[in-house]
Amino acid sequence: MTEEAFDVMVVGSCMTDLVSQAPRLPKAGETIHGHKFFIGFGGKGANQCIQAARLGAKTAMVCKVGKDFFGDNYIQNFKDNGVHTGFVGQTFSSATGAASIIVNNAGENAIVIVAGANMLLDSEELQKVLPAISHTKVMVCQLEISPQTSLQALRMAQENRVKTIFNPAPAIPDLDPDFYRVSDVFCCNESEAELLTGSSVANVEEAHQAGQELLKRGCGSVIITLGPQGCVVLKAQESTPRHVPTAAVTAVDTTGAGDSFIGALAFYMAHYPTMPLEEMARRSNQVAGISVQAAGTQTSYPYKKDLPPELF
Ligand code: ATP
Repeated sequence: MTEEAFDVMVVGSCMTDLVSQAPRLPKAGETIHGHKFFIGFGGKGANQCIQAARLGAKTAMVCKVGKDFFGDNYIQNFKDNGVHTGFVGQTFSSATGAASIIVNNAGENAIVIVAGANMLLDSEELQKVLPAISHTKVMVCQLEISPQTSLQALRMAQENRVKTIFNPAPAIPDLDPDFYRVSDVFCCNESEAELLTGSSVANVEEAHQAGQELLKRGCGSVIITLGPQGCVVLKAQESTPRHVPTAAVTAVDTTGAGDSFIGALAFYMAHYPTMPLEEMARRSNQVAGISVQAAGTQTSYPYKKDLPPELF
C-alpha cells in the first residue's frame, strides 16, 4: 500500500479548555457563581496543526485522547478542519487532556491543566506511524507530551530528511541537548528563550543575542517571536541575525498567537520550500497578527479565504 503523503504532521497535544468567567477567583473551599461558561479546543500541537490546515496544508495529527466525550469531540473538531485523524489514538487508561480555566472580571486567570492521555503517546505508537512520517514534508513537535516522544518523532523525521520545527513550549530548564540538533527550525517566544539561555530577552537586541546562543547549540535556524514586534530569525549559515518586524495591531486576545505563527510557518515550509526563511516569518507574522484580533484560540485562526492573496 502506498502511504498517503502529508504536507505537515504534528506529533503533540490536544487539550479541552473548560472556561468559566466569574466576578472573582474562588478561595479554597469556596463555591461562587460565574456568569459564562464555554468549551474551547486547545493544546499546542492541535492548535498548530489546525492553523496549518486552515491555510491549505494537508495535515495529520499524531496524538492521544481519552475514550470519552471530550476525546470523541476533539476527533470531530479535527475532521471539521480537514485534519487526518487516522493517527489519533483513544485510550481508556486516561482522560482527554483538559485545562480548567477560571477568568475573573480583571482578566486574571487560575488554570489547572491535566495532561491526561497526552502523556500516554509513546514510542510504540510512533513506530506504527513511521511510514507516514517518512513521507511528510514537515514535522512539528512541542513539549506538551512526553519530551522523549517528541524527541523521537523529530529524530525519525530527521533520519528521513523531513524538515523539522521544534517549539520548546512549555519550556523546561533541563531540555535534552539533542532537541537542538534535530531542529531545522527552533521556534520559541521571549520567555522560553529566557528560560533556555538564562539571559533577559526583552527587546530585539537581546533576542538576537539569545538566538545566537540557541543557534550555537546545534539547530539549523532559530526564530524568537516577539509579540507586536514580530520576530527575529537567525540561520546557522549566516552570521547576521535579522529582525522581521510586523504591523502591530490592538490585540483582543493573544492566546494561541505563537501556535498560529508556528502553524503558518509549517504551511510555508511545506508549500514553498525554497522561500527564504525571513519571508516565511514575515508572512507567519501576518497570519498570527490576524489571530490576535479575535477572541479564543482556534476560533481566532484565519482560513486561507480570509487572507490577502499575497500571502500565498
Ligand atoms: P501566546 O503565548 O499568547 O500564544 P506567544 O507568547 O507564544 O503567544 P507572541 O510572541 O506573543 O507568542 O506572538 C506570536 C506572534 O503573533 C508574533 O510573532 C506576531 O507575529 C504575532 N503577534 C502577537 N501580538 C501581536 C500584535 N499585538 N500585533 C501584531 N502581531 C502580533
